[in-house]
Amino acid sequence: MRPKSLYIHIPFCEKICAYCDFAKVMNGTFSHMKYLANLLKELEEEEIPFDSLKTIYIGGGTPSCLTLDELDLLLSYLYEHFPSVEEFTLEANPESLDKDKIRLCQMYGVNRISLGAQAASDDILKTLNRNHRMKDLIRCCDDLHELHFDNFNLDFIYGLPGMTKKDLDDDIELSLKLKSKHLSYYSLQIEKGTMFYNKHIKAQDDEVMREMYDYLIKKLHEAGFERYEVSNFAIPGYESRHNLTYWHDEPYYAVGLSASGYINQTRFTNTHSMTKYMKGLTDRATEEISSKSEEFEFLMLNLRLVSGFSLDKFKERFHKDFLVSYQKEIKKVEEYVQVKDGYFAIKPEYLYTMDHILLELLK
Ligand code: SF4
Repeated sequence: MRPKSLYIHIPFCEKICAYCDFAKVMNGTFSHMKYLANLLKELEEEEIPFDSLKTIYIGGGTPSCLTLDELDLLLSYLYEHFPSVEEFTLEANPESLDKDKIRLCQMYGVNRISLGAQAASDDILKTLNRNHRMKDLIRCCDDLHELHFDNFNLDFIYGLPGMTKKDLDDDIELSLKLKSKHLSYYSLQIEKGTMFYNKHIKAQDDEVMREMYDYLIKKLHEAGFERYEVSNFAIPGYESRHNLTYWHDEPYYAVGLSASGYINQTRFTNTHSMTKYMKGLTDRATEEISSKSEEFEFLMLNLRLVSGFSLDKFKERFHKDFLVSYQKEIKKVEEYVQVKDGYFAIKPEYLYTMDHILLELLK
């Protein structure tokens, strides 16, 4: 299958957040222009057919860290080379996305913004070591609305130590007030090497996380948001098409520092070293996916979706009947799964505990 999606990584950040383990570098330590030159060179080398892409996602890092001229260089290239794109997302942080950059995005076909909001409290934002404050987020969303750019996502984090139901209520209230069409709520994960990890900060325990998650689903559902993936909620019709590519286990191109892609049954990851990338080296690590692994990955990714996967699609891709081939495994988890309208899925109420269900299913 020919990839229809492209991920582009922009690694620069103004400040390093306390929980972050993404590939990033401090702004000012490397030249943006040199990075973009290498990125565009890598893109050229991919030889992506002119009319093949349907989605582009520029993530980071903080893509909005780029200056107006640098963004112009990148977006104009993409606009010119990939005119068939239908969903074009730019990740941004509120403090570095202003009206001029929003207008530029509109000019070059960017039709979706994903904003790192994270919390509705300046104290929590400080604890997270975020670079923005509430006023920046509100200003940024006001600018988006003023310019009729309504298709934007807000990312939030929950489960910080000491976070109460009141904080969660504030997050929900703010996310609804800002009238975004899509919300991502991620539970705090403490990853090795992050500031939180080094300070021995712990996330809330599983039971509290679960309560918060159930509360979120209820409140967002009442507000018209449908959960369509474990951590993602959208007003119907505003689901992220690009991210659905990942969850549907479809192929995609990826360029930039540390970027991971999936083409011709091979997963690859670019070098994590900025010094190497700046020298024009991608040093791609590749892994050919066996048909058994492909099947497992398909299940692991698709079962994150509330809709699960189409049994016909499984048959078409793997040339076998899922319900027959996995009969024994399905029996072990039958109370947690369902077959509905030709789709196999984890029952919505068990999606949060999907890991142990997957473990049984994939044994
Ligand atoms: S802005 Fe995003 S990528 Fe940069 S440090 Fe914070 S969480 Fe990480």
